[in-house]
Amino acid sequence: MPKSVYIHIPFCIKKCAYCSFLSGINPINKGVYVDKLILEIKKFYKGEILKTIYFGGGTPSILDVCEIKKILDCLNFNQNSEITLEMNPKTCNLDKLKGFYDIGINRISLGVQSFNDRILKIAGRAHNSYDALKSIENIRLAGFKNFSIDLMYGLPTQNLKIWQNTLDKAKNLAPPHISLYGLKIEQGSEFYTNLPKDLPNDDVQADMYEMALETFKDYYHYEFSNFAQSKKYTSKHNLTYWNIEPYWGFGLGASGFTDNKRYENETDFEKYIKNPYAEKEFYKTNLLEEHIFLGFRKFEGINIKEINKKFSIDFDKKYARQLKKFILSGHIQKTLQGYKLSKDGVMLSNSVLCEFLDD
Ligand code: SF4
Repeated sequence: MPKSVYIHIPFCIKKCAYCSFLSGINPINKGVYVDKLILEIKKFYKGEILKTIYFGGGTPSILDVCEIKKILDCLNFNQNSEITLEMNPKTCNLDKLKGFYDIGINRISLGVQSFNDRILKIAGRAHNSYDALKSIENIRLAGFKNFSIDLMYGLPTQNLKIWQNTLDKAKNLAPPHISLYGLKIEQGSEFYTNLPKDLPNDDVQADMYEMALETFKDYYHYEFSNFAQSKKYTSKHNLTYWNIEPYWGFGLGASGFTDNKRYENETDFEKYIKNPYAEKEFYKTNLLEEHIFLGFRKFEGINIKEINKKFSIDFDKKYARQLKKFILSGHIQKTLQGYKLSKDGVMLSNSVLCEFLDD
């Protein structure tokens, strides 16, 4: 049974220009949504003790403390469970953060994106850099030892100097965890409709990524885009995804993975509200390829003993051509458990991993 739950809260104060997620819905009906979400959880979740719970969105911190508590009351967890809430700097004051802490939230994921106010405005964020700094201070004052900040690179007019400035400020604040996001223009976003000028090109984006690796070199770089002060602060919930472990996804458009099959919930708000307990529609995916793609994202790479057992294959034999080619070129390295990407391999990961498709 899944030991992890993802809960989607689709409301936001305003829609960011780069965002194509199922989000940005006006929170006017948030109370009704929470009640429907609870009906869905009660139908599918069987009471197992959860290792991780993740409130994502959207902006879950828009919900009142009592609304998050109502959802948590349906779930079983203990003092070792990691319970994360995504937060927009504009949505929480110290009192609300203390409230979240008191009901059991023990990890905050804060959408900072940049410490440059002009860049934040271009990205359509609702907050400015002062709000982000104040939030980090309040997160700490409320008692949270574990929190993460998101930073974005590749935004319009963002250059290497501006990015380095954001990285330096982030480093000085010493957050326990940092996640990086490179801008991708996705269908459904404002940027897709009105393509901005002055987008940093792929080479500049690659330089920005390298600058982040250098700035956070004292952190444990455990996944392509994720850095933790130590193993203790890695995101246990996200590791569930990268390790292809089962999890429930509840809420509008949430996806889940149970019995080796994936599902995605209804994406239409009205339809979801009418029928939150619709049976899940499962679809099959190529799990071996997912293990390779997601496994290589991790610093430790892939464990071929586990893969061989799970898929009844001989990994070394099946991928002999690719392994020979990329070990020779220095993009893949042998480890005790299997293989991992080298630093050069990380920079060229898409081209390297594409060669493992459909072989
Ligand atoms: S980026 Fe986050 S805050 Fe902005 S619209 Fe998307 S989900 Fe909402």
